[in-house]
Amino acid sequence: MHEYSLALSLLESLRARLAEDPVRGRVKKVHLRQGELLVLSREALREAWSLVTEGTELAGSELAIETVPVRVRCLACGYGGDAKYLAAEGWHVRVPVLSCPRCDARVEIVEGRDLAVVALTVEERVETG
Ligand SMILES: [Zn+2]
Repeated sequence: MHEYSLALSLLESLRARLAEDPVRGRVKKVHLRQGELLVLSREALREAWSLVTEGTELAGSELAIETVPVRVRCLACGYGGDAKYLAAEGWHVRVPVLSCPRCDARVEIVEGRDLAVVALTVEERVETG
């Protein structure tokens, strides 16, 4: 149900944004950036999305999801940037390490935990006449 509540909060924030700044035409695609630390099933998210958007102006829109790397900040030495990764032979996933690549102190996560809307693809209504 994690994906369902994500889809729901996504819908709420998107509708609030569209209410303020309406688009002309139907939203075809919602482009999302998924932080590397956010564990979710894209399939479940897409399913949830089609459920929660039913009957709204976003019904029928697709989710285009892109993964973004973890970005960290070190309070000890001031480092800011990419996280350090555990690299192991044969692993299919990158595992970010939460210590500073420069000084090994514990770092804060700046980016990489959220799901954010970055853009919308809108199908323009063709004006006739
Ligand atoms: Zn550091």
